[in-house]
Amino acid sequence: MVRSDYHVHLERGPWTLEWLGRFAAQARAAGLTEIGFSEHPHRFRECRKMYPPRDAVEGWVDQQCTESLESYIRLIEDARRAGLPVKIGLEWDYLPGYEAEVERLLGAYPWDFAIGSVHWLPPDDRNGVWWGFDNLSRADEWERRDVLAAYRRYFLLIAQAAETRLFDFIGHPDVIKVCGYRPAGDLTELYEAAAEAMARAGVCAEINTAGWRKPVGEVYPAPGLLRACRRAGVPTLINSDAHVPEDVGRDFARAAAIAREAGYAEVTTFAGRARAMTPLA
Ligand SMILES: [Zn+2]
Ligand SMILES: [Zn+2]
Repeated sequence: MVRSDYHVHLERGPWTLEWLGRFAAQARAAGLTEIGFSEHPHRFRECRKMYPPRDAVEGWVDQQCTESLESYIRLIEDARRAGLPVKIGLEWDYLPGYEAEVERLLGAYPWDFAIGSVHWLPPDDRNGVWWGFDNLSRADEWERRDVLAAYRRYFLLIAQAAETRLFDFIGHPDVIKVCGYRPAGDLTELYEAAAEAMARAGVCAEINTAGWRKPVGEVYPAPGLLRACRRAGVPTLINSDAHVPEDVGRDFARAAAIAREAGYAEVTTFAGRARAMTPLA
């Protein structure tokens, strides 16, 4: 039986087999049979063109994209040669208007899976630049924003990301709540529209345990969104979004209980962008 964690970032350490091995050792200790790495494309020079130009993102992407995608891929290949059960992916940003570059990069390398995540909201009449709303060091920006409008835009982008059919699963499907800002009132309508779009596109929605470690203190997605996904027939899987070895496989039993409560009995696995099902732990 496959037990996987397909949302793991190496970016806080050096790109070495020693650092990667610590994540793999933690996966083994947590009872996992596979670990999938999913770096952010904004770290890689080769991916710069899938983001808006410098001024439109206030120079942030340009500060970040200092690494080489080739060396990331080589590191994963080295890990495989060393006998580690590793899978390779990226956590792609969905930015409307930049789909073609994502599609080109998806076709250019041998990925096992593709995560589609929304971390940016586009400029509008009041705000002239893209907003990286999950940046905790700039959470004060939320005080200047219309929270409900941000949620509406976010869930529309989730639907659009699904509709591109570029991705295997949607990352942390309600990460818009990360800083703890929530609109008053019921979100059922937004949840259902997003879930139905994911179902139509045949894309999965991950359960991401990192939410429990963030200011919001709640797993992604919220139980209401997970139930909407289940009703619509959207498959799921459980991931940690670990950025340090200790977080690999973290809180998976708690997440599995939530999945079961929502009606799930199986989770998805991936290899070479092909999906399979395995029983929920
Ligand atoms: Zn993310
Ligand atoms: Zn992530």
